[in-house]
Amino acid sequence: YIFAMTSSNTPRKKTLSILKLGGSSITDKGSLETLNETALRACAAAIAAAYDPDQRTFVVVHGAGSFGHHHARSVGLRGQTLPPSVPSLASTSSPEDNDDRNTDTTELLRGLALTRRSVLTLNLAVTSALVDAGLPAVGISPFASGTLAHGGRRGDGEHDKSRISRENFDPSPLIQPVADALRAGLLPVVHGDACLYGLAGSESPPAGILSGDTILSLLATYPSSLAESVSDAVFLTDVDGVYTSNPRTDKSATLVEEICVDAEGNIAVGHGIDASGSRHGHDVTGGMTMKLGAAATVARYGVPVIVVRCGSLSAETAIQGQFLEARRNRQSSDNEEKNQNEECESLRGTVIRPSR
Ligand code: ADP
Repeated sequence: YIFAMTSSNTPRKKTLSILKLGGSSITDKGSLETLNETALRACAAAIAAAYDPDQRTFVVVHGAGSFGHHHARSVGLRGQTLPPSVPSLASTSSPEDNDDRNTDTTELLRGLALTRRSVLTLNLAVTSALVDAGLPAVGISPFASGTLAHGGRRGDGEHDKSRISRENFDPSPLIQPVADALRAGLLPVVHGDACLYGLAGSESPPAGILSGDTILSLLATYPSSLAESVSDAVFLTDVDGVYTSNPRTDKSATLVEEICVDAEGNIAVGHGIDASGSRHGHDVTGGMTMKLGAAATVARYGVPVIVVRCGSLSAETAIQGQFLEARRNRQSSDNEEKNQNEECESLRGTVIRPSR
């Protein structure tokens, strides 16, 4: 792997980092369609400070937060691998044959429209904050690229019951414009989205959610020029990293500094992590479980993942590409006199990497 060097006179290799801005951090999740302006501006400033077209570039992916989840939940759009159990749009019977079914489908599509309007509003705000900070940011939508909802199959209407597998899910319609934008010198800003599950005419219900966490793992691992260049992935979330249990509800939770993932993407036993549930009840995709699953996939493909708190000193260090090296230095220089407090602050977080 290519790591940025901390010393200013050491030549640095070019790095590409995928940053996931958590919806919980950049919005006020308790209040419908409300930005957390302070957090968003701080993120944009940190990215602008670290961005260097010749040395360190980024793909930004963001979640929906209070933009999208409310609408998605109200109509049963989900981010799980199975589509919601509502009847098919592709039914050959006329709407009058079954009013309930028709209502469900109509509602689902209205939910899709509302969710998309909402997440696009947030995408515009995130892109604007980055452009205002001087970055060449461009918004890119999974829906508009024809990318399917999580678990969808192209065309045949059937669904993968476990996870997205490489055989039945082709994210290249999304990856290509991201890779093209990056190659042109732009900073792509992709968002969690409401998407179709299959093409019109399929037997399946038409819509679901593709979460930002899943999008990050697809961009970082699906064989492509993009995945080849990714040096690291950073999740900026609303807690300091991955804990042994939910730190919002369990006072005895402790931060897990490093998680190893085996060749199958399994988290090595012994970490004892309970990651169930987001603290946000209306979240249709969220919580640490999904994030950990996405992070484990990325680590399995050889890309180290860092989970840090949005707006923290450690987030800045990670965005600068210096977190992993600083962690290594800490391990190898235990005896050196340093400002312990500041060092701890800047290195607080979880690294997820393949087991050696
Ligand atoms: P984001 O919006 O950044 O994607 P989510 O709200 O989906 O983040 O997930 C982060 C939340 O997951 C935290 O606020 C925390 O309450 C919850 N959580 C549950 N289990 C854990 C755990 N083991 N470690 C850390 N956070 C956890």
